Amino acid sequence: MCASDDHGLPTRKAPARKIDRRLVLAGAVAGLVAPSVAPAVARAAAPKPIPQPSTPGPKAFMRRAERMRELASAAGDQGYGAVIVKNNKIVGQAPSRVVTGKDPTAHAEVEAIRDAANRLGTRDLSGCVMYGTFKACAMCETAAYWAQLDRVYHGSAITDGGKPKYGGC
Ligand SMILES: [Zn+2]
Repeated sequence: MCASDDHGLPTRKAPARKIDRRLVLAGAVAGLVAPSVAPAVARAAAPKPIPQPSTPGPKAFMRRAERMRELASAAGDQGYGAVIVKNNKIVGQAPSRVVTGKDPTAHAEVEAIRDAANRLGTRDLSGCVMYGTFKACAMCETAAYWAQLDRVYHGSAITDGGKPKYGGC
């Protein structure tokens, strides 16, 4: 019987197993060259290009956010949508996926930030702005702060929420 701490959890560590590095390397190489798996993974990682509005501008960007909101509602999710814009181009967009994804953090704004970061290949979204169908909550505004977004706009009146603040709302 092994010793226990005050919480009844075993304190004795399992003996460390010696790992043969040659086997690990062989497995990694086999995984990289497996022809039936590698192309499928590559295809899944590449998102579809985002259709751009014919007349880009704040109204068109907010219309796209509204479209994301409609998609969320149609899917049975919470009715929110958001887009991320850089140099007058939509670089990220998303509906809310809180309900459909069973993820309480998957607000539309956070999902749009994730989409833009994935597409641009960086966590630094400075130079980008966000359009959301509703005023960002504290979590989303903080996510925008961490992403270093320049500004956040919300609602059909395209209200300027300013530069995102840590913990702000
Ligand atoms: Zn939020």
